[in-house]
Amino acid sequence: MALITKAVKGTQDVLPSQSYKNQFIESTVMNIASDFGFKEIRTPVFEHTELFSRSVGDTTDVVQKEMYTFNDKGGRSITLRPEGTAGAARAFLEHGLTNEPMPQKVSYVTSCYRYEKPQTGRLREFHQFGIECYGTDSPAADAEVIALGNEIFGFLGIEEIRLEINSIGCPECRKNYHAALKEYFTARADELCPTCQERLERNPMRILDCKSPICKEIADGAPVILDYLCDDCREHFDKVKSYLDAMLISYEVNPRIVRGLDYYTRTVFEFVSDSIGAQGTVCGGGRYDGLIEELGGGHVPALGFAMGLERLLLLLDAQGIELPEDKKCDIYIASIGEAASLKAASLALELRQSGVSAQFDVVGRSVKAQMKYADKIGASFTAVLGDDDLQANAVKVKNMESGETTELSLDEFTDSFMNMTLQLAASRLQDAASAGDDFDISSILGSLGNL
Ligand code: ATP
Ligand code: MG
Repeated sequence: MALITKAVKGTQDVLPSQSYKNQFIESTVMNIASDFGFKEIRTPVFEHTELFSRSVGDTTDVVQKEMYTFNDKGGRSITLRPEGTAGAARAFLEHGLTNEPMPQKVSYVTSCYRYEKPQTGRLREFHQFGIECYGTDSPAADAEVIALGNEIFGFLGIEEIRLEINSIGCPECRKNYHAALKEYFTARADELCPTCQERLERNPMRILDCKSPICKEIADGAPVILDYLCDDCREHFDKVKSYLDAMLISYEVNPRIVRGLDYYTRTVFEFVSDSIGAQGTVCGGGRYDGLIEELGGGHVPALGFAMGLERLLLLLDAQGIELPEDKKCDIYIASIGEAASLKAASLALELRQSGVSAQFDVVGRSVKAQMKYADKIGASFTAVLGDDDLQANAVKVKNMESGETTELSLDEFTDSFMNMTLQLAASRLQDAASAGDDFDISSILGSLGNL
C-alpha cells in the first residue's frame, strides 16, 4: 500500500465508531481524579532531550533505546515525551508551584512516544492517564494514589486485575543492595545481554527490568531489595500497607517489581491483568522523592502513576465490559422539496441549540433514502416534512421504537418535542415503578435518545 495511505508502524487511528470509548474513559478517569483533588495539567508534547535523560535516567531502556529524538532547525536536541512525569515536574518547577500550599496534585491524559517493537498493548504512539502528587512523603499519600488507580478499575467494573506493591528503598538502602546485585550478576556476567553488561557497572538494578529472556531468568534468582531496606524505608512501607488495609484495598507484595524508570524511590506498584497477554501491566507508578532535586529544585518528595489507556481498552474488551455509547441522533427531519428542506435546516438548528441531537438531509436524497439513513444512524424519532405540513404548520413525529406518531405544531416545535419526550420518559418510569420492577433510569432515558 502506498505510504501516504498507511499509518506509521506502531501508531493507530481511533475511528468515530470507537472513539466514544476513549471519550468515556478519558472523562471518567479525569473526573475520578478530580474527586481526589487532582486537577489537569497540560504540557508540551516535546521537551529538551536533557529533561528525560536526567529524570527517566540514561541507563534505562526508555532513554537508551526508545526515545524519538531529533534536532530542530535551531540545532536543539528535542524529544517527543516518552512519559508524562518529567514534563509535569519541569512545569511544576518552572512555574514556581513549589511555593503553593502542598500537596500539589495534577492529572493528565497525554500521548506518549516510544520506539518499541509494536505488538498487542505496545505501540509507538500510545496514551497515558497520569497523576502526580508533590510535596508529601507521608505513606498516606502513597495509599491515596494507589486508591485512585484502584477506584478507576472498580468504577469501570474490571474484576480481573491485581495490585502488586513493593518498596525499592532510598539511595541509602540501595548502596548495600547494589553491592549485593553486582556480586550476584558479576558471577554470570558473560550470559547477560550486552546492554545489561554495561548496566552492571553503572546501574545493576536496571538488569532486573530487562526484557531479554536470559537476563530475566538470571534476574529471577537475584537478591531482593526488600531484604535491604533501611529502618525508615521499612517503616514507610509498613504504613503504606496499613493504609491500604484500612481502605480494604487488597494487594500482593511482589519483591521483584523495580519499575523501568530511574526516578523511583520507596513505594512502587503495578496493576496487572492476566487477560490481555504479555503486556499485562495496565498501570504503574510509585514514589520519586529525588526527582525534583535532580531537576534543580529543592527537596520535594512526590509520587504518581501512569495508566496505559490502550491497555485499559484491551482489558475492558477482554472482560466484555461495554461502555455507554455515544449520544445517538434524537430526531431526524426528512424533507421533500426545497421549502421543506429550508424549514428542516432551521428546525434542526433550533433543536440543537436546546441540546437535542437533530439531523436533516444535507445530501439531497429521496425521502426513502433519507429514512434509510435515519434508521442507520439510529434516530430515536423521525419526521417527514413536505409542502402539506408547511401549509398545515404541523408535522407528524414518529417514535421509531414503538412506531407511534404524534402531531406537533411547527411553531415552537422544539418545546413541544421536548415536552413529548419528557412525558414519555415520565410514563415509562411510572409503569416501571408501579410494576415494582427494578428499573434503570439511564436506560429508559437512553432509549428515548438521551434527552
Ligand atoms: P512495560 O514494562 O510494559 O514496557 P513500562 O514499565 O515501560 O511498561 P511505564 O513507563 O511505567 O511502562 O508506563 C506506564 C504505563 O504506560 C504502562 O503500565 C503501560 O500501561 C503503558 N505503556 C508503556 N509503554 C507502552 C507502549 N509502548 N504502548 C502502550 N502502552 C504503554
Ligand atoms: Mg517499557
